Amino acid sequence: MLAGLPLSAQLRPVVVRVSGPRGLDSLARLGFEVAGARRTPAGLEAIVVASPATERLLAGAGLVVAPVPGAPLGAAGDSFSVYRSFDKPITGIRATLATWAAADTMIHVDSVGASVEGRPILAVKIGAAADAPNRSNVLFMGTHHAREWVSTEMAMRLIRWLADSAPPAMLATRDVWVIPVENPDGYQYTFTTDRFWRKNRRDNGDGSFGVDLNRNYPEFWGYDNAGSSGATGSEVFRGSAPASEPETQAIIAFHAAHPPVVAVSYHTYSGLVLFPYGFRDGALAPDLPIYRALGGSDLLPAVRDSVPDTFHSYYHPGPGWNLYPTNGEYTDWAYRAHQTIAFTTELTSGCCTPDSNFYYGFVFPDDSALIDRVFYDNLPFALAAIDAAGGPGLAQGPTGALPTTPRVESIWPEVWVNLPSAGPLPFSLSVRGPSGGILQRSLQTDSLARGTVRTWWRSDVTIDQARAIRVEGAGLEGELISIAGAEDADLGWTGWTRSGEALTGTYAWATATDDTLTSPVVNLSGRTRIWLQFWTKHRGSTFTPEQHGLVQVSGDSGTTWSTVALVLGDGPAWYPVRVDLPAFGGSRGARVRFVSAAFTWWLDAVGFASDSTAAFAALPPVAALEVSENPVHGSQVVFSWPAGTGAPLIGVYTFGGDRLVSAALTPGSTEYAWDLTAGSHRVPNGAYVVVLQLDGRVMRRRLFVTR
Ligand SMILES: [Zn+2]
Repeated sequence: MLAGLPLSAQLRPVVVRVSGPRGLDSLARLGFEVAGARRTPAGLEAIVVASPATERLLAGAGLVVAPVPGAPLGAAGDSFSVYRSFDKPITGIRATLATWAAADTMIHVDSVGASVEGRPILAVKIGAAADAPNRSNVLFMGTHHAREWVSTEMAMRLIRWLADSAPPAMLATRDVWVIPVENPDGYQYTFTTDRFWRKNRRDNGDGSFGVDLNRNYPEFWGYDNAGSSGATGSEVFRGSAPASEPETQAIIAFHAAHPPVVAVSYHTYSGLVLFPYGFRDGALAPDLPIYRALGGSDLLPAVRDSVPDTFHSYYHPGPGWNLYPTNGEYTDWAYRAHQTIAFTTELTSGCCTPDSNFYYGFVFPDDSALIDRVFYDNLPFALAAIDAAGGPGLAQGPTGALPTTPRVESIWPEVWVNLPSAGPLPFSLSVRGPSGGILQRSLQTDSLARGTVRTWWRSDVTIDQARAIRVEGAGLEGELISIAGAEDADLGWTGWTRSGEALTGTYAWATATDDTLTSPVVNLSGRTRIWLQFWTKHRGSTFTPEQHGLVQVSGDSGTTWSTVALVLGDGPAWYPVRVDLPAFGGSRGARVRFVSAAFTWWLDAVGFASDSTAAFAALPPVAALEVSENPVHGSQVVFSWPAGTGAPLIGVYTFGGDRLVSAALTPGSTEYAWDLTAGSHRVPNGAYVVVLQLDGRVMRRRLFVTR
C-alpha cells in the first residue's frame, strides 16, 4: 500500500487468449504493449500488463483474461541477489556507479538531466574522461521502461566489461557511453510499489500517472493511434507534447552534445534486434544494408540466445514494424535527428518456460548466471556496434563486411536505388520497356530517405513492365531476367492461390497454409551478378516465428534447393526484398520457390535480376538529330543525337510554333522518348518540329504523326 495506491489499482500481467497474429495486432490497437506471447495447445496466448480497468476492457473485447500464475504483485522489495533499485544505499545503481567511478580511472559518471521526481539521468563514459572530436560516440541505454530490469543489468555489465576487458585500442578510438537507467523514477517505483510499472512517474493531472518515454520522442510523435496512445491511462501514452518529459529532454540534450554514430537501446523482452523505421508499416531505412549487416538476418543473426529453455534460438532482426508499429520512439528519432545507426534490442525471448509454466520476461530470474548468459549473448553485438562506429566507412559487422557499394533494390514496379548520400543529385533513369523502347524517368528522393551513409531514390516507372534500368551518373544498372506476378500471362507457376490484393496488375499470389509456390525454370546462362527481387506482404508475429516463409532457390531445375532468405513477423504493407544469389550465375535451370509454414503471405513482382545488362549497349554514333520512326504509327518515338558535353534541351513544336514539350536532360544523354502527349493529352495526328539545343548547336527535324 505504498504511495497511497490501493492494491487493486496495481498492474499485473495477464494472459490473453487471441486467435492468432491478428489478435496480437488488435491488442496493440487497444493500446497494450504485448509483453510476450507463446503458442500453447489451446492456441496463442499473449501477455499484457493491465490495470483492473483495462482487464475489464479486454474482457469486454471478448478476450479471455486470466492472471499470470505466480506473478509477484505489488512492491518487489529491494533484497534480490542481482537486481537493485536506483536509490538503494551502497549497492543501488547510483551508489554502485559512484563507487566504480571513485575506484576506477576508466569509469566517469555524469548527470545529463533529471527526472520528474528529480533523480539524475546518469551517463557513464568508459575510457578517457574527456570527449574528443576524433573519437566517434557510441551509446548504450537501459530501462526506458521501468520494469525491464535485465536491460539495466546488461548496461551495468557492459560498463564493467569495457572498463576491465576492452582492448585499449577500442577505447582509444571511440567515446563509449552507457546510460543504465533512462527512467530512474519508474525504475525505483518498480522496487518500492509496483513491479510491473512501465512509464515514468509524471502526474497526468487526471488521477493517472506516467508517460511512455519510448513514445515521447519528437520524430513521428503521435503519427497515429496504433503506434502510441493519447489516453493518459494507456501503457503507451505518448505524453502531452513531443519531448514533454524531462527524461526525454535529457537524452535529446545528450545527443546534441555527443551525437552517437551507433546506439543500442536495451529493452526486455522478446529476442529481437529492431531498427528504423517503426512508425509506418513497410517503411525501410536508406541505411538498411548497414542495419542488416550489423543486425544480421534470420539465417545469419547477430545475437544467439543461449538462455536455457528460451522460445527462440536467436534474436530476430527487422524493422520496428515487424513487431508492431511504434511512434515517438527512440531509434526512429535518433536516426532521423542525428543519423545515428540506432537499434532496439529486446533482450531474451523468455526463460525456463517448460518447467515453470510461467512467462519469464519482465520478471527474468534473479540469477546472476542466467543474466550473465544474456550479457555474453549480447556482448558480440555491442562490440560490433562500437567497432562499426568508426565512421561512414563503417568497419565490419558480425555477419560480414558492411556494404559500401550502391545498388538497385527493386527494378519494378517501383525502382528503388540505394546510393551514397554524398552522391550528385537528382538522378534520372533510363528505362527499357518490354517493347524495347527507352523512356526517361526521374528518381524522386523520398522525404524520409536520406540516411547516414545512403539515400533511397525511388521512381514509379509507370509502364507495364520494365526490362532494364540505368541510373544516369551513378554507374548503376539492372535487368530483370524474369518477372511474374500471378497475372494471366505468368505461366508455369504452381501452388498458392491468386489474390486481388495486388501490388501491381490484377493479382498477387497468396497463401495462409502450408504450401509452396514454385516458379518455372529460368535460364541464366551467360548471366552474372544474379539477384532475386520480390515484393512481399505478410501477417505474422515475431512471437510466433514457427509461422514463417522460406525462400529457396535451385540451380538444377528443382532437384536441390538452397534456403536464401527467411521471412517472418508482421509486414502488413508491401515492401521490396533483394536477395543476392552469387552462386547462381550462369545456371541454366534456375527456379525459386516460396515455402509457407502456416504463414499468411502475399507475393508480387517476383523475378531473377542481374546487376549487369546489355540492354543499354552503346548504339552506333549518331551524326545528327534522328527520330526512330517517321511517320510515327506507334505510341512513342525516340529522338537520338550525337553525344555532347552540356545538358541537352529538347523541344517539340507545332508547325504554328506552339511548344508542346520542353525537357532539359542530364548531361551526356543521347536519347529521349516522347510518348506523343502534351501535358496529359495525346497530340493530334499531323506534322511537328523537333528542336534539340546542345553545346550551342541547334538541330531540327520534321516529324509526322499518322497513327
Ligand atoms: Zn521496453
